[in-house]
Amino acid sequence: MDLSKTVVCKLKPSVEESEKLLTTLEAFRDACNHISKVAFERRVFNPVALHHMVYRETREKFRLPANLAIRARDRVAKAYKQRRDKLLEFKSLSMDLDERIFRLIYKSEGVYVSISTLQKRVKVLLDIGDYQRKLLEGTRPTHAVLVYRNREFYIHVTISREAPEPKGDNPVGVDIGLKNLLVASNGFKVKGGKLLCRRHRFRELRSSLQAKGTASAKRRLKRLSRRERRYVNAVLHQVSRAFTNSLKEGDIVVMEKLTGIRNRAKHRKSQNGDFHSWAFRRLQSFIEYKALERGIPVVYTKAKNTSITCPRCGYIDKVNRRSQSLFRCVNCGFQHNADYVASLNLSRMELAPTGRAVVNQPIAVMNDFSHYDSPASPRSLAVGS
Ligand SMILES: [Zn+2]
Repeated sequence: MDLSKTVVCKLKPSVEESEKLLTTLEAFRDACNHISKVAFERRVFNPVALHHMVYRETREKFRLPANLAIRARDRVAKAYKQRRDKLLEFKSLSMDLDERIFRLIYKSEGVYVSISTLQKRVKVLLDIGDYQRKLLEGTRPTHAVLVYRNREFYIHVTISREAPEPKGDNPVGVDIGLKNLLVASNGFKVKGGKLLCRRHRFRELRSSLQAKGTASAKRRLKRLSRRERRYVNAVLHQVSRAFTNSLKEGDIVVMEKLTGIRNRAKHRKSQNGDFHSWAFRRLQSFIEYKALERGIPVVYTKAKNTSITCPRCGYIDKVNRRSQSLFRCVNCGFQHNADYVASLNLSRMELAPTGRAVVNQPIAVMNDFSHYDSPASPRSLAVGS
């Protein structure tokens, strides 16, 4: 089975190469905005129909190479799949590359990327370490995104890696939440506190910067939220790595399908529901990727009553859950940590003979859910046990 992974690489362009890349990125963005306007005004969102309307224009007006014109049209069509009630604007300097637009070149002194621009192709050295080089080596990626941010160019290369066919028959339930970030029915547990404490500190810093409102404060604010996301990502990578290391051959990971923040009491209490649901989904996708890498299947289940059902006698009642952390069954007296009980119930869900058959086909990690391997991993991260 093939797994996709995104490797982020910084580019080391010369001044001349920078200029070429930048003007191409700007032309791509402008082309996207132009196509977006046409699509919105004429209510044409189908990529093929849109193609006939904008292709020639895109090439002439913005001087884009053929394949970049197609990528721009695709980006717009894809964006309108989400919403069509307003004109979409493209602001960031980023463009999609396919195999005709970019190519990796391996040389003894380093890895280069060759990219089509408005003028000629440029061949730029990648500023990467051994880890990224090892990931890229021998791959022939067909998709990447070029991004310009903080006056630097980055290329996000999607690579495909082979993993063993997933199989297993021993369900391990995984409960994800605020108090305990992760509790699994195999006994693995990570407290959420660390992640959240840090989050509070960021929040304080942010509100003081917001109060200032100056231009430099705004810049710092932007940097801060990026730093925060990077930090959270790194923690989630460590937690998911530690958890998947606790899995054995033959295990199946069972997780709750997180549908939104509204229906879950766990989230409602947090002031930052959006952030947490983002982080939780991300944690699930990291676990999924790392488990699949080892051939361990992952299934998602629409959990019902996992926090109020007794794993011993099956009695379902809200009063079983005495508090945020304590579960005690009013029927049989079974008592345990509430999150652990939820993970047990998740692991049983797939075992129940009346339940759905165990899905052996895992949800593949696709582009929108892809696994980023950021070059920046923080140095000191304490992960609870
Ligand atoms: Zn009971």
